[in-house]
Amino acid sequence: MARTLSQFLNDLDRDLRARGDWGSVADYIPELARIDPAQFGIAVALADGQVLTAGQADQPFSIQSVSKVFALACVLGRIGEQLWLRVGREPSGDRFDSILLLEQEKGRPRNPFINAGALVVTDELLTGRSPRQALTEVLGFVRQAAEDENIHIDKAVAESETRTGHRNAALAHYLRSFGNLQNPPDHVTGTYFHQCAIEMTCVQLARAGRVIAGLSCAPALLSPVKQRRINALMMTCGQYDGSGNFAFRVGMPAKSGVGGGLLVVAPGRASIAIWSPGLDGWGNSRMGTLAAEKLAEFTGWSVFG
Ligand code: GLN
Repeated sequence: MARTLSQFLNDLDRDLRARGDWGSVADYIPELARIDPAQFGIAVALADGQVLTAGQADQPFSIQSVSKVFALACVLGRIGEQLWLRVGREPSGDRFDSILLLEQEKGRPRNPFINAGALVVTDELLTGRSPRQALTEVLGFVRQAAEDENIHIDKAVAESETRTGHRNAALAHYLRSFGNLQNPPDHVTGTYFHQCAIEMTCVQLARAGRVIAGLSCAPALLSPVKQRRINALMMTCGQYDGSGNFAFRVGMPAKSGVGGGLLVVAPGRASIAIWSPGLDGWGNSRMGTLAAEKLAEFTGWSVFG
């Protein structure tokens, strides 16, 4: 008899744990450096409302850059196409925190998922709002999307990054020097660090991702056009300079975070959240990527057929 998706997820959890090549945790954020890399959870939210899980699917983790998807959704809802005057839509082929292209391209970041681009998105979010209001907006969007009020910001992680995030501070000041940051750099980085420090479980993240996947059971928070565009950006830029490899191996739009989280989208079919905190050389979850690849093989959910 064919294996069900639920059986597959349990087998996947067991097989990955047996492998043991977890990668290493992000050590440039002190709070994240303390986390044991040997952990794994997965949740698959389906169009009919079911959520299938395996492993540590109820363990909260720091979503980090996965939050950039939700911040982008808020900003596109608010200002739409105007955002593209300030941020590009091309893969960068560089690390997530690189400053290199910013000089060559005169302060217009390549895309909204590298840190420089995400800082511009957060700057937009702050227009006419205090940092607290901007954070309430992003957190509100995530809670509504997940239909779960029990989603919070981990203050210790935010403070840990505020103390040590000199690279992001440099990016913010550099953007400001080109006139592509309207708010004071420390307001922008402070808001951004808190947004990245949203803590969620795989189940919560898979449920929030339903709006990006356009699942019929999802709350109506995003127009189909915005969904398509966010998915296109996740496919081309969601894993930074590992995006081509991810598209090759998995074939689904996805966004990674240095907390080891991964939101993978099978448009119209499923929203998948995977967490395993050990990272590969690109700063993407090592086991998370392998799990997404195996899931794509099992389900045939690659958007490329
Ligand atoms: N807060 C992290 C940073 O700015 C997010 C990076 C990531 O998850 N790739 O460095």
